[in-house]
Amino acid sequence: MKLSKRVLALAESETLAVTAKAAAMRAAGIDVISFGAGEPDFDTPENVKEAAIKALREGQTKYPKPAAGIPAARQAVCTKLERENGLTYTPNQVIITTGGKMACTMVVHALINPGDEVIIPVPYWVSYPEFVRLAGGKPVFVRGDEERDFKITPEQLAAAITPRTRMLIFNSPSNPGGFTYTPDEVRALAAVTAGKDIAVLADEIYDRLVYGDQRPLSFAACSPEAYAQTLTLNGGSKTYAMTGWRVGYVAAPEPVIKALSKLQSQGTSGVCTFVQYGLIEALTGPQDEVERMRQAFAQRGAHIHQRLTAMPGVTCCPPTGAFYVFPNVSGTYARLGVTTSGEFTAKVLEETGVAVVPGGAFGSDQHVRLSFACGMEQIDEGMNRLEKLLKGAAATSRSAPPAEPASARR
Ligand code: GLU
Repeated sequence: MKLSKRVLALAESETLAVTAKAAAMRAAGIDVISFGAGEPDFDTPENVKEAAIKALREGQTKYPKPAAGIPAARQAVCTKLERENGLTYTPNQVIITTGGKMACTMVVHALINPGDEVIIPVPYWVSYPEFVRLAGGKPVFVRGDEERDFKITPEQLAAAITPRTRMLIFNSPSNPGGFTYTPDEVRALAAVTAGKDIAVLADEIYDRLVYGDQRPLSFAACSPEAYAQTLTLNGGSKTYAMTGWRVGYVAAPEPVIKALSKLQSQGTSGVCTFVQYGLIEALTGPQDEVERMRQAFAQRGAHIHQRLTAMPGVTCCPPTGAFYVFPNVSGTYARLGVTTSGEFTAKVLEETGVAVVPGGAFGSDQHVRLSFACGMEQIDEGMNRLEKLLKGAAATSRSAPPAEPASARR
């Protein structure tokens, strides 16, 4: 059977590929420590599970009506966005989606025509460019300066805008960077897009996972113009440890939600009904579990950052949000005899059993991504192994430098 050109051109999700590889190695009896997918090790809070079980017992097993989401779930999203983000939406401005991923895909398909340009700051989450290409759009990458924690400036954003620009995909706190734009930085970017015919897909899936004195600001909250241009995306996965439930949502102007609902009615008929009852409880029930998990992530992030930056050839911005660190490991390449993040990752996995995601998948081949949504013991064991490899390589290179491929010399 011949495959379509669209699918042939599509890359596999590297985050899921690394995680699947680690799981397969483990199943084969190999001792693997995985820092792959961004998936909390915590279980979904009991009250959320109970709400879904109750809904199941009460017979909430039919098609969700309407496909855009049951009214109570759409209302719960409005309650959350008002309470935590200072955003006022009505239920008909909300759609419940099959995770954040399906929300992104549908948004891009609803708004992007072939040839349209979509600005994507680098580093970016692995799937954004693929969504855009699948819709026939053109990703336009803007690389944030590593010295500024990879954050793009208003000048950079303005310079990337052309008459063909139709969308900015803005993600803060960032996957994979682990950085968070300050409210002033978000406002400065929103001032650039204000009044232009550019939609902003604001992926705020990590908005509750910020550390230290960071305070996130929703893009839509920047100004009335920003509110009118923005699609605010979020979901249960990261905040409530609900990755397997596959439930997310988008809030946006009503005509856009209608378009997304049309797509959803043809695509999936909507999100599993009893799952939506779990989402309602997550968003409107007690929030203390969220804080407990956030505090654990904060400690883990600080710890993994401290361990990584003590290793030879590794530099890393401190994580201020989400649950990722994105160290620059290019200072180890020559010593390890590798030239790309993919080769680094393969070597580390082969020699230490530690799985990380190559930065190339996120637009930066000097880096790798590690998720710290795993226990402290796992973090320490993984860091011990990595440190041993890197220190060993550093010692070897001091006594007898390995032959370097020409491309690795800097
Ligand atoms: N968003 C998570 C990650 O980046 C889950 C995996 C995925 O959907 O790519 O690891």
